[in-house]
Amino acid sequence: MRIGILGGTFDPVHNGHLALAYAALEQLKLDRLVFVPACHHPLREKESATIASPESRLEMVRLAIKGEPNFEVADCEIKRRGVSYTVDTLREFRAKYPRPSELFFVTGGDWGKNLDQWKDIQIIFSLAHFIVAKRPGFDTRHLPRSVELLDFVPLDISSTQVREELRTKGFSSLVPKEVLNYVHDHKLYQT
Ligand code: ATP
Repeated sequence: MRIGILGGTFDPVHNGHLALAYAALEQLKLDRLVFVPACHHPLREKESATIASPESRLEMVRLAIKGEPNFEVADCEIKRRGVSYTVDTLREFRAKYPRPSELFFVTGGDWGKNLDQWKDIQIIFSLAHFIVAKRPGFDTRHLPRSVELLDFVPLDISSTQVREELRTKGFSSLVPKEVLNYVHDHKLYQT
């Protein structure tokens, strides 16, 4: 089995995440891709905590991937509570999918820059292929040898931008409609 893992805060999940997931599924020839919403992101806690609750972020991913048989969502980081370290998540996936199954941890180009700050990055490299999605003009020379690149033209979308649209206009075309309905029903991102 070839299992992809896409971590993030997904606050909220948007079409850019889905595009990255489809690119990974296709290029890495994955059997399934698992979205793993973080409880608390280790490298983000100080500047910007998440806004929607872990349960809401999990549910929005669930709604966004409904009907796509190769996508799944896992609640392991949310169930662990506290700060979500990728190394712990990959250990859980390894226990669930022993070798010869292959794990592919997929991340957007922005995270490729500060890998030295990740907890136990060498252990992470030993547990899974570490895939960074290339961005146009993205300098790959500084990346560790263990990093593999995914060809991908990212959509110019971020959760920050989606939250801003929702706050100011009450609407965003950058998320699936089921996610937008959830946001409205639960009055998220209004302030
Ligand atoms: P925020 O704006 O709150 O910082 P974000 O849009 O970057 O959020 P995350 O949940 O942090 O979303 O991202 C999860 C993963 O998806 C990360 O690896 C990130 O690099 C990647 N990603 C986010 N937006 C895009 C995009 N538009 N295209 C491709 N990958 C993306």
